[in-house]
Amino acid sequence: MSDSKKHGLETLAIHAGQAPDPVHGAVMTPLVLSSTFAQRSPGEHTGFEYARTDNPTRQTLEKCLAALEGAEQAVAFGSGCASMTTLFQTLRPGDHIVACDDVYGGTFRILDKVFKPMGVETTWVDMTDPNNVKGALRDATKFVWVETPTNPMLKVIDIAKIAELTKDHAAKLCVDNTFATPVLQRPLELGADLVCHSLTKYLNGHSDVVGGVLMTSDAELIEKLRFLQNATGAILSPFDSFMVLRGVKTLPVRMDRHAQSALTLASWLSEQDGVEKVLYPGLASHPQHETAMKQMKAGGGMITAVIEGGLPAARRFLETTELFTLAESLGGVESLIEHPAIMTHGAVPAETRAQLGIDDGLIRLSVGLESVDDLRDDLAAALKAAKG
Ligand SMILES: *Cc1c(COP(=O)(O)O)cnc(C)c1O
Repeated sequence: MSDSKKHGLETLAIHAGQAPDPVHGAVMTPLVLSSTFAQRSPGEHTGFEYARTDNPTRQTLEKCLAALEGAEQAVAFGSGCASMTTLFQTLRPGDHIVACDDVYGGTFRILDKVFKPMGVETTWVDMTDPNNVKGALRDATKFVWVETPTNPMLKVIDIAKIAELTKDHAAKLCVDNTFATPVLQRPLELGADLVCHSLTKYLNGHSDVVGGVLMTSDAELIEKLRFLQNATGAILSPFDSFMVLRGVKTLPVRMDRHAQSALTLASWLSEQDGVEKVLYPGLASHPQHETAMKQMKAGGGMITAVIEGGLPAARRFLETTELFTLAESLGGVESLIEHPAIMTHGAVPAETRAQLGIDDGLIRLSVGLESVDDLRDDLAAALKAAKG
């Protein structure tokens, strides 16, 4: 499909980067598993030589994802963590990062346990007050890392404001857009330089792939990332590329329903006895509701709640739900529920968890595409069990 800029997201998700296969006319992009490609004469080839460097199925996915996010290029990796690691491999000892304090646990681990010992230091700040970023910037700061909404506290960070504050600084603004997706939030249009995603979540959307992607229109970053994708080799496999290409076709439709059902359930939960607090960007009670509504099309599919009665009550709640499967991860068609303090954020030190408010009664829900009435009944039964 040509000239992607004229088309809507629903169209791009299905067609961008894709045309019927010229050899057989296959409507769906073929899964090309070959690790190597024939050359007519030494160095004279179709553009594909060796599948770590480039693969037709991965290239098609990269084009589709770039079009969805409005980026010049997308570079796909074997996991969200591999994509971040590759980005941070562009740094050198002495370089510095400013990151929001409530990041995905794996992001914290990469920066604190892998890159800090190699001399790349990170300053963690609460970016719900964008001025905190200004104070943390140094001459050596190369990246400002924003995740919004954050995980699991669903804090919302004003991307445009941070872009404004960092525009006179050489640091590049990177946004982890995994929770919102390009359907609900457009970081590059708000002034960010790079967007990162765990493809594992909403973009693939069916809980059957682990993958990641970086997207940017910054020519210097593209060159470095393409070099590292080939040189260090943390690539997305052809099969996983094929799966994400298939999953992403329904992304706009899925996101609308995820957000609609999450809003319904968050409103309902916030009125129930036994629920101490509900955090959902789409609720007027959310501390950054206004910012959320300014930069997001809807509040997203994730809800965080605190169950009264601490760990014992939360444990009974989590053991009772049937449609909400107790599992890590998020963003699939099926609803999931989890306990951040023990599960996804176990790698975050207890003291930091306490500061962030990740307490023992806190649960995180990924609202899937099941009947919202069934999901509400499931939560009602769990609340009853939680009260003991
Ligand atoms: C899951 C996740 C990641 C890491 O992605 P993987 O594919 O699990 O490596 C990064 N950021 C966010 C917000 C995530 O939810």
